[in-house]
Amino acid sequence: MTAKIIDGKAIAKKLRAEYHARVDQLRLAYDVQPALAVILVGDNPASQSYVRNKIAGCREVGIRSELIELPATATEAQLLDNIERLNDDDATHGVLVQLPLPPHIRVSSVLERISVEKDVDGFHLYNMGGLVTGSTVFSPCTPYGVQKILEHENIPVEGRNVVVVGASNIVGKPTALMLMQQDATVCICHKKTRDLGQFTLLADILVVAAGVPNLIVPQMVKTGAVVIDVGFNRLPDGRIVGDVDFDGVKEKASYITPVPGGVGQMTVTMLLHNTILSAERSTTATRSAFRRRQTDEVA
Ligand code: NAP
Repeated sequence: MTAKIIDGKAIAKKLRAEYHARVDQLRLAYDVQPALAVILVGDNPASQSYVRNKIAGCREVGIRSELIELPATATEAQLLDNIERLNDDDATHGVLVQLPLPPHIRVSSVLERISVEKDVDGFHLYNMGGLVTGSTVFSPCTPYGVQKILEHENIPVEGRNVVVVGASNIVGKPTALMLMQQDATVCICHKKTRDLGQFTLLADILVVAAGVPNLIVPQMVKTGAVVIDVGFNRLPDGRIVGDVDFDGVKEKASYITPVPGGVGQMTVTMLLHNTILSAERSTTATRSAFRRRQTDEVA
């Protein structure tokens, strides 16, 4: 069996065209332009590159973006002040703080200061907790991208065995919870899992997000499984690879995502989606408030 190679780039392009149309609709109907504020602390080159991608994505679909750059010496209070200002700004629909942060700043207090209604990364404790009950305001972008890929390829999730390798707060755990909400039977593996292959072999859908090149080899994959490789690793020779032995596993799986060109394309796309959704919700909220005011005035 040779797997269908899922073209994340093509899916992202199609979705971005749809999002562009939603941005146009917001402008025409409500004179609203979705806007994303990105706060970058310090000069980590990887973070700078991620932020550039996010801003380029915004430009592509017509979202206004604002980049706030703070020095690595900025205090937590300075960062929180910036977040408060953006929370209060009606023209800003999404607020994102690029991680990682310098060690003197507490990540949890920063993420929890972002207004839940503008938490387009989905990292606020409320949004994280909502994953358990299926009531998030925004889904975290990478897991949401995985979900969208499965949806786009018409791969059913309900009743299937899903194994997620990796249990981080930003990828592994939320992916597992989101797929569980879709009635999959889910297992999460991590570094301390004994005999990883014993679990991965059970997977109808295998999602790998460990950050370890070649962690998943063909003997660990069930024939016909769907393999979603979230891993993104730069080898010493400069090549970018995922966590899955792509050449070997593609001969056994039914679907597989390549790296690059798979899940990576979807993360920023879902961020754009969440920002537009936030702007759409703001127009609904504005209209409801307006209607309430009118009703109060008439009464
Ligand atoms: P992370 O915070 O380092 O978490 C890695 C997880 O994998 C941890 O739960 C860890 O277990 C587990 N793990 C590590 N080695 C393992 C092994 N040998 N066997 C089983 N589990 C193992 O990383 P992350 O932020 O979740 O990211 C994971 C990968 O996805 C990275 O390559 C990252 O670059 C990539 N990524 C890609 C995108 C994208 O847009 N494509 C977005 C985010 C992340 P413990 O919990 O026991 O330590």
